[in-house]
Amino acid sequence: MTAAYDDSNIFAKILRDEIPSVRVYEDENCIAFMDVMPQTAGHTLIVPRAPSRNLLDADPNVLSKVIPVVQKIAQAAMKAFNADGIQLRQFNEAPSGQTVYHLHFHIIPVYAGVEFQMHAAKMEDMDILKANAEKLKAAL
Ligand code: AMP
Repeated sequence: MTAAYDDSNIFAKILRDEIPSVRVYEDENCIAFMDVMPQTAGHTLIVPRAPSRNLLDADPNVLSKVIPVVQKIAQAAMKAFNADGIQLRQFNEAPSGQTVYHLHFHIIPVYAGVEFQMHAAKMEDMDILKANAEKLKAAL
């Protein structure tokens, strides 16, 4: 059993527009924005609007609407960043690596021979995030 959902988490604040994000996509079910501490160039997060702590307590109906968006962002990221592959990551509870307790999916472009940065470790320059967001939006 996981802990209860707490709507004071940072992604809930982004969903309520209480704090800014570099958005690339939104619809009635989810939003997508650039990860501020990207593990590679173009690292993007897809966040369902519906509250759930992670995959373990998520509504399957929400998942069925959001996974096609995850695919859409992955396809666009391949094109936008000329990536060699995409890694989809999704963490559930702290021991697995989860740091923000609102369900989200990581789309991480993979570039052959380029190592990932550490997870949630180093803030990226805002101009770089915005430039990457523009590339991704153009590919969507
Ligand atoms: P996780 O460990 O799966 O919970 O990952 C949370 C992710 O959110 C990490 O990759 C962080 O770099 C990222 N992150 C944390 N705060 C923000 C924020 N304000 N805007 C965008 N991404 C964030």
